Amino acid sequence: MPDERYQLLFESVKIGPVVAPNRFYQVPHCNGMGYRDVSAMAALRAIKAEGGWGVVNTEQVEIHHTSEITPFIELRIWDDRDLPALSRITNAVHTHGALAGIELAYNGINGPNLYSREVPLGPSDLPTVTFTNDPVQARAMTKQDLADLRRWHRNAALRAKSVGFDIVYVYAAHGFGTPQHFLSRRYNQRTDEYGGSLKNRARLLVELLEETKAAVGDTCAVACRIGLDELLGEEGIHREEMLELFSEISELPDLWDLTLCSWEHDSRTSRFSEEGHEESFVSGFKQLTTKPVVGVGRFTSPDAMVSQIRRGVLDLIGAARPSIADPFLPKKIAEGRLEDIRECIGCNICVSGDMTMSPIRCTQNPTMGEEWRRRWHPEIIHDKGPSKSVLIVGGGPAGLECARALGRRGYQVTLAEKNKELGGRVTQESRLPGLAAWNRVRDYRLGQIRQLENVETYLASDVTVSDILEFGSEHVVLATGSNWRRDGVSRHHLAPLTFPEATTFTPDDLYAGKLPQGRVIVYDDDHYYLGGVIAELCRNHGCEVTLVTPAAIASSWTIHTLEQDFIQADLLKKGIQILPHHFVRPGKNTNPEAVHIYTGAANILDCDALVLVTARLPNSELESGLEQVQSSWADAGIKSVTRIGDALAPATIAAAVYSGHRYARELDEVIDPDAVPFERELTELAPESDWNTFWQCGFNS
Ligand code: ADP
Ligand code: SF4
Repeated sequence: MPDERYQLLFESVKIGPVVAPNRFYQVPHCNGMGYRDVSAMAALRAIKAEGGWGVVNTEQVEIHHTSEITPFIELRIWDDRDLPALSRITNAVHTHGALAGIELAYNGINGPNLYSREVPLGPSDLPTVTFTNDPVQARAMTKQDLADLRRWHRNAALRAKSVGFDIVYVYAAHGFGTPQHFLSRRYNQRTDEYGGSLKNRARLLVELLEETKAAVGDTCAVACRIGLDELLGEEGIHREEMLELFSEISELPDLWDLTLCSWEHDSRTSRFSEEGHEESFVSGFKQLTTKPVVGVGRFTSPDAMVSQIRRGVLDLIGAARPSIADPFLPKKIAEGRLEDIRECIGCNICVSGDMTMSPIRCTQNPTMGEEWRRRWHPEIIHDKGPSKSVLIVGGGPAGLECARALGRRGYQVTLAEKNKELGGRVTQESRLPGLAAWNRVRDYRLGQIRQLENVETYLASDVTVSDILEFGSEHVVLATGSNWRRDGVSRHHLAPLTFPEATTFTPDDLYAGKLPQGRVIVYDDDHYYLGGVIAELCRNHGCEVTLVTPAAIASSWTIHTLEQDFIQADLLKKGIQILPHHFVRPGKNTNPEAVHIYTGAANILDCDALVLVTARLPNSELESGLEQVQSSWADAGIKSVTRIGDALAPATIAAAVYSGHRYARELDEVIDPDAVPFERELTELAPESDWNTFWQCGFNS
């Protein structure tokens, strides 16, 4: 039985003709797998249902080939051939007693149709709205197009019903759904009955809701996911307008899924938002309808969830990222195991899967996306093999996850850390501006390790080669991390440079409390978050800061975590200068030079200090030292020495956690180095007969 305080979360909720078994609602979310990796994605959804989410939704599902968002990989329900894939999802979700929902999407002006080569359709003749500014325009829909779209939506709803979906969405949010484009006066410049007044702009949404209800509403709940604010004041969709719309159509769908008009604002990282950050947008809407209301806010605390319900903000607790970081969050609350919850850190590495068209991954949950591919369950791990003991050197994210997972398998694990505290880079980075939530990577693992009697942890232990030989563990794991380079080597410079020692800093210096003063150049050739964060840190310490980067924008890779706009705006607002398109090299005197990457024009940078955020070097000294004494391993009882995490190859925190987890999963397993180590699905070939006909008869004449 759940703690009395949280019982409210386990009440069932009627949603039109169906009943959600509890208030835990996995809202639709993308995963970079979609139509390409169906079984992997079905397993991901099933794991959520197994973990207690009462409703599990798909990502956006393209309803018709005239609107597709290639290169992004979502699901499709274009025709009956897509149904077996969708059926796999509903069956898997139903096995665990959850409701399955499908988010039908017609992206319109948001889809360049690079695959189908159809002309995109939108409310008005305008360029497509895509991340890559594709040279494609949408054309204004005619009355016939609108009638077609309504029919396609209805067909998709009927198909969804036929494979057992319980909830069918009309999608008008995130800038991705055509009904939102019609609602927005920016995109909708029509003068007919679909443009102009709010009533006219909402006409398509209303028609789709009514027709979806008429088509499938007898057995399926019809949900409306609606963006409440474009955050552009009265020029865009805004609160007053939406309150007015609600007063007209609040009873039309069976469920309201309230969100914002852009994905960037809805999936804000912890650097730019707190848990529950959407409350100011969604509050007040529930009071206008008798239908259940769901909303998100990176909720991981059951108290915050209960508070949302008690205060009348939401009826159902929506979650994408918290359900990715911990698919078993509801079960853990039900069983009173709050200390076992793996809380989302709000880094949006999961989002980067979709943005890079690669299978979803998660910093906190290394099994995410690997449920079917590698048969990794987030809560279950197989028992240990014949080996007994493992020594892990280094207690950063890689070492901690490795210790946790090996401990769960039943090995005798010793974790030795040089510093007086555990966490490695996450402990250091979480002290930087905006990154406090990174600590959750460490804290979850510490909490788990404390529960394991077979894992011993030693702090302030700077392990040497002779210590390792003396210790005599069967397996040695080197999770010793990496150090930032001070020779400028990264993407632009591949050969080392010599910068003046006294005025050149790396992030490691700053972590050690050695901060630059005065006029500071932060040279970012890393391109993820750290360069921007270091610039902010220096600015907060009163420095005059210029961020120099060979890229066109600051922290360019954070486009994939939906943060780039926020970061660049924040840096500029804080008075940090940004100098794009430049690399930095040593100048003639102590000052460095900035060189334009296109013209080669060089300028002396008048500054007091240079902070290099460039590449990192793995700490591999222990491995080299151990290699030199390999002949002594057998006497010391050592069978293997393995580098993991940043010590193997510096990358993201997610990669370090994954590396530690993978080592733990594979210890004592027989691994075929020539075999593909994960399951994959291959494109179905056209039947041989069809191919032969084409081959023999040739092309249409
Ligand atoms: P990763 O991301 O791969 O986990 P980190 O850099 O976060 O890497 O963590 C590496 C950890 O290893 C740091 O906490 C560091 O203090 C520790 N470490 C490095 N060398 C040694 C050593 N010789 N003995 C013990 N701990 C070490
Ligand atoms: Fe949360 Fe980061 Fe995992 Fe996404 S990748 S679910 S933001 S911890």
